[in-house]
Amino acid sequence: MKIMKFGGTSVGSPLRMNQVLDLITSDNTPKIVVLSALSGTTNALVNISNAIAEGDRKEAQHKIQELEAHYRRFVNELVQTESGKQKANAIVSEHFEFLNIILKISFSEALNKDILAQGELLSTKLFCVFLEEKAIDHVLLPALEFMSIDANGEPQIGSIKVKLSQLLQQYQAKKLFITQGYICRNSKGEVDNLKRGGSDYTASLVAAALNAEVCEIWTDISGLHNNDPRIVEKTVAVEHLSFDEAAELAYFGAKILHPACIWPARSYNIPVKLLNTMEPKAAGTTIAQTAMSIGVKAVAAKDGIISIRIKSSRMLLAYGFLRKIFEVFEKYKTSIDMITTSEVAVSVTIDDPTYLHQIIKELEPLGNTDTETDQTIISIVGNEIVKSNDILKKIFNSLENIPISMVSYGGSPHNISLLISSKDKKTALQLINYGVFGL
Ligand code: ADP
Ligand code: ASP
Ligand code: MG
Repeated sequence: MKIMKFGGTSVGSPLRMNQVLDLITSDNTPKIVVLSALSGTTNALVNISNAIAEGDRKEAQHKIQELEAHYRRFVNELVQTESGKQKANAIVSEHFEFLNIILKISFSEALNKDILAQGELLSTKLFCVFLEEKAIDHVLLPALEFMSIDANGEPQIGSIKVKLSQLLQQYQAKKLFITQGYICRNSKGEVDNLKRGGSDYTASLVAAALNAEVCEIWTDISGLHNNDPRIVEKTVAVEHLSFDEAAELAYFGAKILHPACIWPARSYNIPVKLLNTMEPKAAGTTIAQTAMSIGVKAVAAKDGIISIRIKSSRMLLAYGFLRKIFEVFEKYKTSIDMITTSEVAVSVTIDDPTYLHQIIKELEPLGNTDTETDQTIISIVGNEIVKSNDILKKIFNSLENIPISMVSYGGSPHNISLLISSKDKKTALQLINYGVFGL
């Protein structure tokens, strides 16, 4: 079994859907095709949901109408036959009627998740009408019947495996399955999602659950680049990454991958390939157990970071001080990214501001706190880079004019992270591109 995931741009126009069709029918391997929503749709649904939450129903209605018009034009171009057009338009009507009904219901978090799910439901159903018109045998597997998360928002491969295998058993003679990325059910049985960019996560969870031979992530760029191509001009694709390297890059901001999508593949040793729908022959990036080469591979940046320094004059010889600090973050389910310590102070970074106020309040008895928002973590990632003689020199020489407020070195052999102010991010990435990668 092979898993092929296509992102928003890859299904964002009828032309692209035709390319997807070619790619998924180019060999006979049984496959599960995971689709995202058409590009722009999830953002539009977020805006609709926000307008409803703010009580601006007129604005929400206007945005729903705009999005519906987009889908009407899309299906008109995608399907050619009269019966195909009828089917596709009926699907569009069904989902937009649902959105219009939601306008009349009072807003809740569960409703928000229902709204956000419409994108992947639409893209997969429309793609199946398109496949039917082309007489390509396939089955639509509803993700809401097998993809689930527990009360902590964590997907459980065990239960996904059982449900997915049961579903597949009903179609033993079939070879092509289509399913929705991103959407799932939560522990209450409600519609939920795997967070933004979550279709990558769906793909790797499905790959792990079925012990697939490969998990292909098809997107709009030929593999993971050494630096953020949206910010830096000269970037190059990295051909091989280990699971550890890729996990660090995804977690620390390389947008091409969902932050959590590597662990399922790593747990089941399933290679992940990052490929370009528009340039299918390009090598892209292969992510597997071994790194293939030593040295620095890529840099990523994660924004929206908050740093908190806790300073205690009594920390000297005070064992248990770190435990007390960590317990506060644990209580508020807020994970810490970076940590540095000195004899009298501890600095940590978090990316989730939800409980910041409560956390600071509970830290107060432990010492004075200093909070800094609008920070960015820059992570330089590569195989065993902390053993390299000159990497630190290169990094610090490149960034000599940029204030660095924290450094994390040696925690992982593959990652050196720095904390800087977000306003310096662009310059820092450019300087690293030149000074560390020689580009
Ligand atoms: P999809 O919709 O297919 O999931 P995404 O927009 O989520 O695609 O991810 C692909 C985009 O990630 C690229 O177009 C690129 O702009 C951005 N990106 C950020 N950092 C990197 C990187 N290091 N390498 C490649 N792409 C990156
Ligand atoms: N459609 C979702 C999003 O835009 C999931 C994804 O594309 O991976 O976040
Ligand atoms: Mg994505």
